Formats: sequence, structure tokens, C-alpha cells
Amino acid sequence: MIAAIEAAWAQGQRVAIEAPTGTGKTYAYLIAALDRQERFVVSTATRALQDQLVDRDIPALLAHQGLQRKVAVLKGRENYVCLLGLEQARSKLQGQHAGALAQVERWAQSTQGGDLSELDDISHLTSLVPHITASHDECLGQRCSHFERCFSNQARARAAQADILVINHHLFFSELRHRQMLGVGHGFVPLAQTMVMDEAHQLQAIGLKVLAKGLNVGDMRDYLQTVERETSLHARGFAPWHALLQQVQQALVQWMGAEQRLLGPADAPTDAASRTTGRQALVNLHNLLSALVAALQGVAGSAAAVAQLAGQGDVMLQALRQWAQGGGQDRVRWWDSPGYVRAGQAGDLQAHGRYAWRQGFRESPLWLWQALQALGPQVQASSWLGQGVQRWLFTSATLGDDAALTWFAQGLGLRSDSSDNSETGDAPLLASLRLRSHFDWGQQARLVVPQGLPGTDAPAAERAQALAQWLLPHLKALGGRCMVLCTSTAAMQALAQALRQGLQGQAITVLQQGEQPKRRLLQAMRTAPGGKSGRVLVGTLGLWEGVDLPGEALQLLVIDKLPFPPRHDVLHAARVQALRAAGRDAFERYVLPQTAMQLRQGVGRLIRSASDQGVVVIADERLHSRSYGAALLAALPPLPSLDDAALPAFLQTLAEKELRP
Ligand code: SF4
Repeated sequence: MIAAIEAAWAQGQRVAIEAPTGTGKTYAYLIAALDRQERFVVSTATRALQDQLVDRDIPALLAHQGLQRKVAVLKGRENYVCLLGLEQARSKLQGQHAGALAQVERWAQSTQGGDLSELDDISHLTSLVPHITASHDECLGQRCSHFERCFSNQARARAAQADILVINHHLFFSELRHRQMLGVGHGFVPLAQTMVMDEAHQLQAIGLKVLAKGLNVGDMRDYLQTVERETSLHARGFAPWHALLQQVQQALVQWMGAEQRLLGPADAPTDAASRTTGRQALVNLHNLLSALVAALQGVAGSAAAVAQLAGQGDVMLQALRQWAQGGGQDRVRWWDSPGYVRAGQAGDLQAHGRYAWRQGFRESPLWLWQALQALGPQVQASSWLGQGVQRWLFTSATLGDDAALTWFAQGLGLRSDSSDNSETGDAPLLASLRLRSHFDWGQQARLVVPQGLPGTDAPAAERAQALAQWLLPHLKALGGRCMVLCTSTAAMQALAQALRQGLQGQAITVLQQGEQPKRRLLQAMRTAPGGKSGRVLVGTLGLWEGVDLPGEALQLLVIDKLPFPPRHDVLHAARVQALRAAGRDAFERYVLPQTAMQLRQGVGRLIRSASDQGVVVIADERLHSRSYGAALLAALPPLPSLDDAALPAFLQTLAEKELRP
């Protein structure tokens, strides 16, 4: 891998390397980058890998090579406690979460880095976070009285001095967006001539999320509350604030209701009258917000916070105008609204509580390369489509199902040197390499596809009951050591409930994603004393990757259904439509490779070391009955099949092995 990276970089090529778990890819790219004797940046999809690199991998390698380098980690602003926000939180929250707030205040006195991940054992921290952090728009910058001690600023200062900087993809794309909005001279993440993108399979999803445009009504409501507080402190009596704010608040609720009515029940056509009402509600909101922003601009000199709010209001007005104008070609627009809010009465804020505010509009290009191309040429130079960075490495355990890594390359707008170039034209060239797994999957693992379960179109509860009944004897035989990956939240909840009922009186605990922080769930799995007090972890998409449970912690991996992209996902549906309109086979070219990548990620959770052994259960008979099943099986590591009937004996062997001295 080191040789491949060095060869590609020497020829000025971007390089993508698929390297399964256990190949040592982290050390390989660190060695290749260190060899160049210049600063470099590593970006990851997850903060967990950021921490692992900085706390473990990089120090270990530097010590081994006898090198001294300044290493820094930089995360998004929302990861650091904002001292100004913390100072104001007590009066804002009026007694809510007082215990947790006191813990954060004590910690803030002694922490070196101010990184909130140090605190994830505090209950209610999630509710506190919006009050004790500051987004880029909310931060007062040099006008803040805590500017010198500010943890976020200190982290940036360290990042600017670092020889090795570890960031995350979210921050990388935020940097591009920031430069696009304020000019290239206003960057806040120091990029380098060598950029390594680890967990690169996530680039497309994260990039589109950050670069998509939109406006959340919850953010608008928070904004109005802040305006109320700051104007009462700094500009009382200078404008009829109460009346202005009430009008905007009412217009916001009306607009939200109108947009929800426009959504209507799935597939129902919206009538012209509803569209007109929606349009009027949007114009009304825009005009009233405009009046409020003008009033704020009139008193902007009263305090830095008020000037900041005037600027934030302007950004919201621009977003509203954009939504009113309509989208362009190759873009998709949607009203983002939680399912349980959509199903209820439009605009019924009482019934849905704070969840009703988690909605708003989004507009996104279909593919990441389109989002990058839409950036100005100077900003684009900082991405892999431009020439501003000389050396790029993209790596992950799953980047494609062919030698050219087409699935990955096409989404990012790159042209693989061994691919058909007809569609990618003169896109930047990408060298690609697929490394083989060092694990002997044929010896270490088996694949079971259970027979006779309800079909995948059966209701989630019925499938969950049947799968739980099938699974129970195997869980008892193995004493837990199982993780179930579901394709929907409904399936996860139904299955966790069915398993809990079936395991009553057994020394096996069912853990469900979302009931505790992920870190604690995984810790519970790792520390389960095998055989005596087992664990079953049931989760959905958040656990399909980034889960490392070696040894006896995980020996039975269950996938409830083939992970096809959800039909109700607007971006997915728009991609399928666009490919069909262009005369291409959307299933072959997009749906199947996407599903294969997701399935490989899930299956990859099972074998994490050369001594691991276990069983993958894919509870979806389509793997054998449909023509595409062969392609999905071919994308997986080589897994010998096992009959349902032979499974108990295999599990028994695994269970007994652990008991042997
Ligand atoms: S500089 Fe910004 S992030 Fe830092 S304490 Fe002040 S407001 Fe908060």
C-alpha cells in the first residue's frame, strides 16, 4: 500500500485504495505521508477515528520511528464548549438540567481542550449542547469577552501550527462552504499539499449534507428567542420588538403548516389553491422577517450580539428567497419533516412538541461532484477537482465492487485509470487499488440465509416476531455475543421488543441503539463475561459501520434485510429518476452497487482479527431467489454457506471453544 501511494503521488495522481480491516492501512498512509517531510492533513468520517488517530495510532508510529512532530486535532465548533454560552446558560435555562449544567461548569474550569466528548457520561448533555456551544453564525469572534480563552479558538491556533492535523469530513466540506461564502482568504481549516481522506466511502453522503442548502424552522425559532433576549438587554424601546417578533413567529407557524399541507399524504397531487397558500405564507414570512432584520440593523451599534443577529437574519432571508425561486437542473428539493410529524395534523405544535420544529427545506445536487463544481474556481481548487492540493489519498474498507472502484470514483467526479471513460470525460485521474483481506473468511466465518421467514414485504412487526423466534435458540446456545443490524427504526424497535420478551428469565440482556450513547453500548458488549451474562445489541444504520467488537464480543451477526436504499429517500429517488431519464439502468448502475457497499460494511463487523470466528445471518431469501443475489454475494468476502440445520452445531463449537483452557 505504501508503494502504491508513493507511486501515484510521484506521478501527480489522486489515489484511492480499498483496504479491508486488518491490512494496517492507517500505518501505511501515515508512513507514506511522513516520508515526505512536510505537513499533512488526515480527514475522517467519524470523531471516534479522529480520536483514535491522535490518541493512539500517530503517537505509536512517531515513537516507533523516533520522530517528533506537532500533532493536532480539530473538530467542528459544536464539539467545544462555548464559554460565553455556558455563562449565559443558567439564566436561559431557568433551572432546567441544573445538575448537568453544574457538572459542565465544574469540568470547564479544569479541561485543557474543552472537547465535549470528554463529557459523554453526563445524562441530558444532548439537551444542553445547543445552549453551551456556538455555531459559526452565533460566535461573536473577537468581540467576545472570552475570545482569548475560547477552546474552539485555541484548537484552531494549534491546528495552524501542526505538522500533522486530523480533521473530519464534515469540517472539510464546511471549510469549502465557508470559503465560498466569505472568500478564499477566510478559511479556518489549514489544508496542506498532502490530504488523506480515511473512511472515504462517507465523503459523498457527508459532502452533500454539508453543501446542500436549506433552512430549519427550529433554527428560526431559536433565532427569534435569541433576538427577544438580546434586544431586551441591549435595545429595549428602540423598536416594537414584541410585536415584530410575534408577527414573525405566527408567520413561521403558518408557513410550516402550509408546507406540510403541500406535502399531503404520499402520492396525492397538490392542488393549485394549496400551492398559492404556501407561496403567500412564504412571502408573508419573508416580509415580516425582513422588517425585523431592518429594525436590528438600525440598532446594530448597541451591542456585538445584536449586529450578529442582524447578519444571521440576512442569511435566513437569502435562504427563503432561494426556496421561493425554485431549484435548477440536477438538483432535488424537499421539505424535510420527521415521519411522525407528517402523519399528524399539519402545524399541530402541541401534539408533536419540540419534534415539530425539526423540519425545513433542503436543496441538494444529486452527486457530490456537482456540488463541488458549483463552488467558485478558487474554492474548487481546495477540493480534489482542482489543482490546489498536490497529493490526495482516499481510503476505506469499502470503495467499490470492481478493480476501478467505480462506485466511489463516479460519485466524486473522478476518472479511474482502468475504467470506461465515456461518462467521466476529462475528470481528474484516479489511481485505484484493492487490497485483499488478511483474514481467512473461508475458515473463520459462515453465512446462513434462514428459510421460511415472512417475505420482506410483510409488516415489520410480523417479520420481527418470526426472526426473533428463529434467533432465540441460537442466542441461548451462544449466550448472546450477537449484534442485529436492521434496515429501519421500526424493525429495530419491533425486534428488540420481541427478543426481550423471548429472553425473559435468561442471563442475556438486549441492548437497543439510542437507549444509551453508542460508546457505552459497545463497551457493554465488550465487557460481557461470555457465557454467563450475554448481550445482544440491536441497532439500525448507525451500527452498520464504525463498530469494532473483536473476539467473543461478537460471533453472531444478523442482518434483517438487504439494505437497499430506502424508496422514500428523496435524494435516492431523484438519482434513480435522473439515471432512467438518461437511458441508463438505474438498478444496475446505482441501486445494486450502493446496496453491495452497505452490505459489505455490515458484514465487515464480524471478523475483526485473525483469530475471530463467527456466523453472518442475512435474513433475506432474495439473496438466493433473485437474480441480483449473485452480484451481492460476489461483493462479500468469501463466506461458505451453512444450512439452518447445521447452525446449532457450529454455534456449539464456538461456545465450547471459549470454555477450553
Ligand atoms: S469566541 Fe465564540 S465560541 Fe468562543 S466563547 Fe466566545 S462566543 Fe463562544
